[in-house]
Amino acid sequence: MHHSTHDLLSPVPGITRQLHSFHFGPRGGTKVYIQASLHADELPGMLVAWHLKRRLAELEQQGRLRSEIILVPVANPVGLEQVLLDAPLGRFELQSGENFNRKFVDLSDSIGDQVEQHLSQDPAHNVALIREYLRRGLDAHPAQTPLQSLRLTLQRLACDADLVLDLHCDFEAVEHLYTTPEAWPQVEPLARYLGAQASLLATDSGGQSFDECFSLVWWQLQQRFGKRYPIPLGNCSVTVELRGQADVSHELASKDCQAILDYLTYKGVVEGACAPLPALPRPATPLAAVEPVHTPLGGLLVYHAKPGEHVQAGQLIAEVIDPLNDRVTPIRNSQPGLLYARSVRRMATAGMVIAHVAGEQVVRSGYLLAN
Ligand SMILES: [Zn+2]
Repeated sequence: MHHSTHDLLSPVPGITRQLHSFHFGPRGGTKVYIQASLHADELPGMLVAWHLKRRLAELEQQGRLRSEIILVPVANPVGLEQVLLDAPLGRFELQSGENFNRKFVDLSDSIGDQVEQHLSQDPAHNVALIREYLRRGLDAHPAQTPLQSLRLTLQRLACDADLVLDLHCDFEAVEHLYTTPEAWPQVEPLARYLGAQASLLATDSGGQSFDECFSLVWWQLQQRFGKRYPIPLGNCSVTVELRGQADVSHELASKDCQAILDYLTYKGVVEGACAPLPALPRPATPLAAVEPVHTPLGGLLVYHAKPGEHVQAGQLIAEVIDPLNDRVTPIRNSQPGLLYARSVRRMATAGMVIAHVAGEQVVRSGYLLAN
């Protein structure tokens, strides 16, 4: 194992920040990048990463790693220290109000312009070429704020990886994941090993999130040059949602760690016999078929449906109670599906999204992510 530290742009004199990456296995072949807690108050992944760190060190000692695996267990030291009046605030940077998992650098156009004259009919050559220009482009990209410095450091570490796993969680949720329809055939075994209750697919959900900043470059270059040159999708990225924020336990983390190692064994990154593939809990569905269930009014939020429940159209998801005028407002979903996540708050504000239901019919378009 090799431990690297990466200096982040210091916000003020007297403060230094570093990102730590742990590198296992030999370089060459399939490169895997795994990070946890980019949203710093989403900690189940950090515990999974710590389990992985120890297991990967053992596997490396046994000579069972065939290629490089980079692990970043604490992907967001900036957000981790944002605790305000006893409340951790790890999703948005307090300085800018920006979501930590948005606005990663999009180099598709500039890389397309630079590689066009060097592309060939050899797909392997094109992959190596695009990766080289990705590394160069990100190295040359300036970081003007501590937030950009964090994003760029993470993006540089992962930009030439074949496989990127970004470990997150929801508020209260069952295990689910986000990836692209193009990557789904590769990701499906991971969904089986993890037991993902929902697998939500979108090519471009509109936020330039960490997973999509890698998959979209290849997709866009393929759209631009695919008729003239063979451009494989050189990256497969997945955002894995490890249940809810409070689901931090060794029992769950060791299970998720084993599922990821089973997948890496299946992919040939870890040497060994593949664990049998479990059944897929639920077919993948479009992210655009997710219904965010809103409450039109504020009040005390009393749930009637739990994460993991299959709900019918018009089912009672929650009641919103105004204890002053005794108004009880039932909140119902409009399409059937799996309620995979709900809020952790119990005082709803008017207009708030209280739950997400993964349906099968497309009901949304445009920007598909939460804030
Ligand atoms: Zn997250």
